[in-house]
Amino acid sequence: MLTTAAQARLAGGLASRQPTPATSRAAAPRRLHVAAVAAPAKEEALSLSQELEAERQRRAAAAGSAPRPTGRVVLESEDELKSTFEHRAWVYGGTALMAATLAQGLAHVSGPSDAAAAGAAALAAYFLADVGTAFYHWGVDNYGDGNTPVFGGQIAAFQGHHQRPWTITEREVCNNLFPLFRPASFFAAGLLGTAALGAPVWWDVWSSSFLFLCCMSQQFHAWSHMKKSELPAAVVALQDAGLLISRKDHGAHHKAPFNEKYSIVSGWCNPLLDGDSPETSVYMRLEKWIAAKWGIEPRGWYEPDYSWQEQQRPETAA
Ligand SMILES: [Zn+2]
Ligand SMILES: [Zn+2]
Repeated sequence: MLTTAAQARLAGGLASRQPTPATSRAAAPRRLHVAAVAAPAKEEALSLSQELEAERQRRAAAAGSAPRPTGRVVLESEDELKSTFEHRAWVYGGTALMAATLAQGLAHVSGPSDAAAAGAAALAAYFLADVGTAFYHWGVDNYGDGNTPVFGGQIAAFQGHHQRPWTITEREVCNNLFPLFRPASFFAAGLLGTAALGAPVWWDVWSSSFLFLCCMSQQFHAWSHMKKSELPAAVVALQDAGLLISRKDHGAHHKAPFNEKYSIVSGWCNPLLDGDSPETSVYMRLEKWIAAKWGIEPRGWYEPDYSWQEQQRPETAA
């Protein structure tokens, strides 16, 4: 049974979303949800969320429609922050494979046109890695949950990151990166194979650079959570030059309404994808298109926003 408070919130929430969630959201930005959930204590809010989620599932089942994606995910347990031999093996091994592909491409540069193609390919890889990580981040922030096949761990990790963003700064590098380098290593091995078979210079340069930058994005992300005083001078210089995502740019993603500035490589694509406002962004258009075509709505449309709010770091808690 729902408590009175839960019934009131559910009724209010559903009423405010009529006639369709897609159009109503445009009129009611997510920050309204933040204000609505700020009042209850954490314990109460969690049980309230579970009641609301159960009730929504019942209503969805009764209406014969697919249930909305659940917002509850399996959060990280005790974080193991140290790099192990296995973590290092995946990161160094994957990097070696990508470097070998890049070297193969560069070894076949024979003239100005090849050199220009290699330079353009590297630049394109830098930009497209920014775009690719932005869409991936948007996807895991908004769709599926901790039980989703293949991506469940990433989805849970990203949501856990929103609650405890300091953890990423405490991870050792290979611990932070191996979840990306491990699957990428298999692609890297395939790319090295295509390089050995005589792939064009631009493909060797583009594919190896793109894959490496996508893998490294999680480290660029970690650096964007650190203070300048904690970073090597070269990283600060790259951030200041706009070549790596900055603390200020990424910090905006961790503030309500949590649905902009998804990129975690350079931030170059953020203005293009975010548009003038979250309600008219490329992400919102995609969310509406996916909802219309498959009936799958992003977590952000319904997720109680306290689960995205940053918790207090334990050692600084009162
Ligand atoms: Zn996020
Ligand atoms: Zn972050």
